[in-house]
Amino acid sequence: MNTQFLDSYSIQQAAELLQRGATVVFPTETVYGVGANAFDEQAVRKIFQAKGRPSDNPLIVHVSGIEMALRAAAEVPTPARMLMDRFWPGPLTLVLPRSAEIAPSVTAGLATVGLRWPRHELCQKLLELAGVPVAAPSANRSGRPSPTTFEAACFEMAGRVAAILRGPPCQVGLESTVVGFEGENVVIYRPGAVTREELEHVLGCPVRLVSNRDVAASPGLLHRHYQPNLPVKIYEAPEQAAPVSGEWIIGPPDCRGPWPGRFILIADIEDYAHRLYSLFREAEAAGVSGLWCWLPPARGLGQALRDRLLRASGKRP
Ligand code: AMP
Ligand code: MG
Repeated sequence: MNTQFLDSYSIQQAAELLQRGATVVFPTETVYGVGANAFDEQAVRKIFQAKGRPSDNPLIVHVSGIEMALRAAAEVPTPARMLMDRFWPGPLTLVLPRSAEIAPSVTAGLATVGLRWPRHELCQKLLELAGVPVAAPSANRSGRPSPTTFEAACFEMAGRVAAILRGPPCQVGLESTVVGFEGENVVIYRPGAVTREELEHVLGCPVRLVSNRDVAASPGLLHRHYQPNLPVKIYEAPEQAAPVSGEWIIGPPDCRGPWPGRFILIADIEDYAHRLYSLFREAEAAGVSGLWCWLPPARGLGQALRDRLLRASGKRP
């Protein structure tokens, strides 16, 4: 497929491609997504083709506001509405009963749909111009780390989609928090930049992080995910790391040891999230034989980083 490379001046063209049933890669504040009209079954199928994504893995639908979300969902429980009001636009996906208009492939046969209103300015403009909800998973080939820069999105998707829209590097760098509503309970299917602590603060009740074992409600999480093409090894305390020559090690200042390989210093947890997938790609391109990654404590954004790092290292979080 002949892919067009577009910048913000050509955003109208990108919106028209979406309206005509084509696939467009675009930036969001989390990662780059590969999108298609969520009401158009033929268009949505092109996303699965471009990614080589298993058809049992549902897609997140991006909306341009609460009004459009209310059209895509059949029902919005009170806690969901509270979270929309507080965290939208932002990196939070809400899994809600689906409306009949959503194309069947989007939800992989589930009765629910994951909805998100992104806060990225260019992305918001694209969604407004398109005027339809846009189903968009991360713009990587299935199983690979999500692209967080225009260059990474091109590396993954050039030749597989109609267009790729250029934006600056994604601010957050990790995928959205995915939240579901099970009876009275609010649960996190996938941790992300909106943290468990923030959700609990707004709702005033405990929010559980569901583990891989009981995540049948969010089938995509059972698939292999987020893995670069090199061994990722994890450590919590510096004495657990044992890099050999040719390996790189990522960590905070107090993990800087007498390592033989390159040490990559991360400033804080946001910086870590922002750079992690780019560092995966940089290490891949440099032919590094192993990448040692510091596993941060399980609080705040650390929960999302732990989830992605454990998966990248082949473990189940
Ligand atoms: P991605 O689009 O690659 O960021 O992955 C989206 C993930 O969100 C999927 O793998 C699912 O785990 C989750 N998800 C999306 N839609 C639903 C849904 N309707 N029900 C439960 N989980 C969902
Ligand atoms: Mg993905």
